[in-house]
Amino acid sequence: MDLYQHLQKLPKVELHLHLEGAIRPQTAVELARKNGVSLPHSDRPDELYDYNTLDAFLDVYDAISKTIVKVDDFRRITYEMLQSASQSGARHVEFFISPHAHEGVPFARQFEGIRLGISDAQVDFGVTSLIIPGMNRELGPERGEAYLDEILANRGDDVVGLGLDYFEAPYPPEPFAKVFARARESGLKLSAHCGEAGPAAYVRGCYEVLKVDRLDHGYNVVDDPALMAELRDAGILFTCCPSTTQFTTPHRDLGSPSHPIRVMKQAGLAVSIHSDDPPMFNTDLNGEYVIAMDQMQFSAADIKTAVLATIDHAWVDETTKRNWRQDWMPEIDAVINAL
Ligand SMILES: [Zn+2]
Repeated sequence: MDLYQHLQKLPKVELHLHLEGAIRPQTAVELARKNGVSLPHSDRPDELYDYNTLDAFLDVYDAISKTIVKVDDFRRITYEMLQSASQSGARHVEFFISPHAHEGVPFARQFEGIRLGISDAQVDFGVTSLIIPGMNRELGPERGEAYLDEILANRGDDVVGLGLDYFEAPYPPEPFAKVFARARESGLKLSAHCGEAGPAAYVRGCYEVLKVDRLDHGYNVVDDPALMAELRDAGILFTCCPSTTQFTTPHRDLGSPSHPIRVMKQAGLAVSIHSDDPPMFNTDLNGEYVIAMDQMQFSAADIKTAVLATIDHAWVDETTKRNWRQDWMPEIDAVINAL
């Protein structure tokens, strides 16, 4: 049995995955045809996901999102995303959605389809899921307030948090302090993409000013040793996505000793492994665990630490976490001890 097959049996919690970034290329092509939407540069599934910067990737991400229109389209992409995650060993998935990317499609229709996909996948694969609407930072905090209103209007128990994503570099987090505070007062957990295209100061801003519970990516924290020490002591989780760094950051050599994920792990930060936009970056959740071991010097013990961190930092109640630890630990130990 190779490492991929072995790690597939490791129970996992996926905390950094975008619904729209998980659309299978074949599905995007079929839905584009069905809904009369044109795709950028190619309608061939094997050529669709071709880019090498965060900006170019986001263009494709937006174009793909426009192919998703009907309730059943949302059901289908949610179901397929959870099917793939489940095949990677995921038992629980907290995923981002980008409702504003589906221009003209009412939020209520989107949530209806997504919820059908979640319940179908739970029946068929036993995987549980929660939804984290991502706020597009490029649209600014004022539109963010209106966005939060729409989210709260469509809220169910399954909407657990608020994220902050899209192009980072010219958009510091501080202007979003007010809308993030209101989200927290409404009972939502908070996370933010940061330190991917933006500097370490943005990581600090997300932590200190937005007061997020989890940091998504966060790689440029390595440029600020004092901040690293602070966030290590705070125990805040960085949800890291190895393959993504090859496309959207300058850190393209996954095997480099100076790759930030490796540096963060060695510095004792809480680091977990996720798949982000798996088909768009030609990977899956389990493949990211393989990369961590094969290329980033994660030991068996590091893998166990990373998995347990995803349980600790999942946005579920303490009883659920305790049950997961109890139920999954024999399986986790069996996989880890045989590595
Ligand atoms: Zn992401």
